[in-house]
Amino acid sequence: MPIRFFNTLSRELEDFAPLAPPRVKIYTCGPTVYNHAHIGNFRAYIFEDLLQRHLEARGYEVERVMNLTDVDDKTIRGSRAAGMPLEQFTQQFKQAFFDDLKTLRIKPASAFPAATEPRFLEKMIAMIRELERKGIAYQADDKSVYFRLSKFPDYGKLAHLNLDELRPTGRIRNDEYEKESIGDFALWKAWDAADGDVAWDSPWGRGRPGWHIECSAMATALLGPQLDIHCGGVDNIFPHHEAEIAQSECCTGQKFVQTWMHCAHLMVEGQKMSKSLGNFYTLRDLLAKGWSGREVRYALISVNYRLPLNFTFDGLAAARAALGRIDEWAARLADLAAKSSAPSAHPLAAQTDFESALDDDLNIAGALGHLFNLIRESNRLIDKNELSPADARALLARWQRMNAVLAFDPEAAEIPAEVLALAEARVAARTAKDWKKSDELRAQLEALGWQVKDTKEGQKITRR
Ligand SMILES: [Zn+2]
Repeated sequence: MPIRFFNTLSRELEDFAPLAPPRVKIYTCGPTVYNHAHIGNFRAYIFEDLLQRHLEARGYEVERVMNLTDVDDKTIRGSRAAGMPLEQFTQQFKQAFFDDLKTLRIKPASAFPAATEPRFLEKMIAMIRELERKGIAYQADDKSVYFRLSKFPDYGKLAHLNLDELRPTGRIRNDEYEKESIGDFALWKAWDAADGDVAWDSPWGRGRPGWHIECSAMATALLGPQLDIHCGGVDNIFPHHEAEIAQSECCTGQKFVQTWMHCAHLMVEGQKMSKSLGNFYTLRDLLAKGWSGREVRYALISVNYRLPLNFTFDGLAAARAALGRIDEWAARLADLAAKSSAPSAHPLAAQTDFESALDDDLNIAGALGHLFNLIRESNRLIDKNELSPADARALLARWQRMNAVLAFDPEAAEIPAEVLALAEARVAARTAKDWKKSDELRAQLEALGWQVKDTKEGQKITRR
C-alpha cells in the first residue's frame, strides 16, 4: 500500500508522491516566541516529528524547516510589557523552546530561521515589491502595504470558504482575524507608537513585516518555490496558511504546497485549555509535577493527529504504565537475547503491520495497537519458553526500528538524583547485610514512586 495523507486542500486522502524523491521538503510553522510553548503547541510539533520519522523510516530524505516568529503583534506587546528590547525578550523563549524540543525528543529541524534575520527581512521586502510590481500589493493611506484580495480568486480554498458569500470589504492590519472579517491583509505594517523601537527601513518607510509574509519568505528562501508538505495546527489554516498561499503563488506563479496537513485541537480534561480555567499547561508545568518528557511525548503522540486529543492526568498515568510495559518487555527480550542459540527468524519479527498503519495517514493508534499485540504475543512465548535467544534478537531489532519512529526508550537521566542516591544507599545496606535498612530504603523509594527489583544482574529501579 502506498503512503497516504489527508490533504486539507482537497479534503481527501491522497497517495503521497514527493516532487523529487527521495527528497521531501517540509515546512512547519514554528512557535511565536513570546512565552513558553504550551502542550497544545507541542502536540502539533510531535505530530510533525512523527511525520518526519516515519518518512525517514520509509527511506525518504526529509528536509524540514521550522520558523521562529520573533516579531509580530504578540512579541512586540510582550516585550513592551516586560520593559525589554524585543531581541532580548524573544531570545529567552527561543532557548526555552529548543530545550523543550530536546525533552520531548523532537528531532531538530534542518533549519530554524527567525523572522528578524536580515536575509529573511530582505526576502520579505523583495516579495512585497514583486507583488506591488504585479499590482497585487498596494500602499494605503495609513502607509502600510496590503495584499489586494480581489487579485487572488483562490483565497479561501484551503479553509473552504466561499468568498462570494462573504463579500470581503476593508482592510485588516491585525495578524490574526476572524473568517467573518475577511479583507485585504497587511504585508508590511507602517510603524506606529505601539511598536516602540521595533522598525526596519523599507521602500514604504519604516515599519515591520506582517506575520504571514514571514512564513512565505522563509519557506521559499530555504526550500524553493514548491514544497511537498506544509504542516501546522488547524488554527493556522485561516488566515495564516491561506495568506501564505496567496503571497507565495502570486510571487512565483507556481503551486506552493502539494500536501497541507493540519493537526487537530488539544483539550484538557474535556475543556478548551485556557489560563482562566486553570487548565493551561506548558511542558515545564508538567515536568514540575513529576512527569517526564517521554511520558508527555507518549500522551501527545498516541492519538491520531486529525482527531481532537483530550489531554488528562489519567492519560498521562496510562502513558507511564504503557511505557513501563514496553521497558519491561524490551528488558526481557534483552535478557533472552544475551544467551546463545542457533539463528532463526520468528515470524513475529518479520511483521510490518506497525509501518503499514503509519502509511495510512499516520494511524498511530493502530500502530501502537500492533506494538502491544507484539508485546503480548512475545511475552506469552517467553513465558512458555518458546522464544529462542535468536528470536529475541530479531524482535529486539524490530523494536529498535519501531523505536526510531516512536523515540520511547528510557533514559537513565530520567531517574532523579535523589532516587539514585537512595538506590545506592540500598546497595550499600545490602552489601553490609543490613536488611532492615534495605527495606526502609525500599519503602522510601516506593513513596517517591519507584520500584526496586533485585535481579541476578543487580538492583533495578523502575517507575511504579
Ligand atoms: Zn507560518
